Amino acid sequence: MSKQIIEVYYKNRYVNGLCYPHCSTAKKLAKLANEKTLSRSSLEYIRSLGYTINVVPFIEEKQMSKPTIQEMTDADIEEQFDKAYEIYTDRKGGQFAVFDAVEDGILKATSWQWCEPCEIKSPILKGSCLVCGESGIEEKTDD
Ligand SMILES: [Zn+2]
Repeated sequence: MSKQIIEVYYKNRYVNGLCYPHCSTAKKLAKLANEKTLSRSSLEYIRSLGYTINVVPFIEEKQMSKPTIQEMTDADIEEQFDKAYEIYTDRKGGQFAVFDAVEDGILKATSWQWCEPCEIKSPILKGSCLVCGESGIEEKTDD
C-alpha cells in the first residue's frame, strides 16, 4: 500500500487548537467521524490507519486565489462537489443554499441548466449538477 497523506490546517492552533481538514481525503475522514474539525482522538486514529498528517498553512479563504474553471484539475472539481454537498447537507437551505453559494462565488459553475432529477434549473459544473451530482448534462449556452 502506498503511503497516504492527508492535509490539515489550524486557524488558531494555540488558542483553540481546532484542526480543520484541508484536502478532500481529510474532509471525507472528518465527514466519516461526523466532525467539522478533527479531534485529537480522530487524528490519532487516522494516523493509526497509516496516514501521514501534513499541516499546511491556513490561508483566509477570501485571499485564496481560486483557479479558473479552465485551470481546474479533477481534484479541484471533486472539491467543488464535496463543498456543494457540504453546503447542501450542513445548512438548512438545501439546493437553494447551493444556488446562493454559486451566486456568491463560493462555488464555481460552468453554466445553469435544467436538471431532470432536481426538476429545476441548477448550477452545472463540467456537465454535472452541483446539487444532485447528476452527470452527462448537456451545457447549452443561453442566448
Ligand atoms: Zn440536479
